[in-house]
Amino acid sequence: MLRPGVVIESCEICRRPKAVCVCDRIVSYPTSLRLVILQHPQEQDALLGSAQILVASLPKVQLVIGLSWRSLGHAMGEDVDVSKWAVLFPERDGRSGVREASALEGIVVLDGTWSKAKTLWWRNPWLNRMNRLTLKPKQPSIYGKLRAEPKREYVSTLESVALALTLCGESPEIEAGLHRVFRTLVQRVRDADVPKEARKLPRRTRPPRVPKPVKEP
Ligand SMILES: [Zn+2]
Repeated sequence: MLRPGVVIESCEICRRPKAVCVCDRIVSYPTSLRLVILQHPQEQDALLGSAQILVASLPKVQLVIGLSWRSLGHAMGEDVDVSKWAVLFPERDGRSGVREASALEGIVVLDGTWSKAKTLWWRNPWLNRMNRLTLKPKQPSIYGKLRAEPKREYVSTLESVALALTLCGESPEIEAGLHRVFRTLVQRVRDADVPKEARKLPRRTRPPRVPKPVKEP
């Protein structure tokens, strides 16, 4: 319910309040790699969520919101050769992983805070059977103190994807460009001084609730 007198003008594209919208900075980067973002249903409203930036910037992204699917093909709604896909996996050593990252057709990334991503991992056992692309971020997350993650290597979805694209042979300019937009978002959220409890966005993707019929006395 909207409180009277409190009107926050929000962007029609990204739904963020206008003060923290970064739609003016989006650049489209065509890639040969495909990308599937599996998003926890509770992540889609986070003001600092970075998946929307990826969706706006990368034409080959598919955003899938939910908790469990039977397989990658089921999540994507098409037949795919799963052997040519890898799931992004944060790992301290960053040793194991796909031998031929450049031969991949696509990558899967789980979007959500670390605990939500863990839920997705647990609910979808087929992810465990996929190739893993392990990432070892070179620097701490651009989030800084705005969103605390338990370990240094837990960076945002955007940063993971940007790094993975470079590892898979896409132009490093894409990684740099995505970082620029994300830095702008984090800076604008900081400048706007949005309190933690207000960093939720109005829901859009959920169908409106049908009101219960009023019982006649
Ligand atoms: Zn916007």
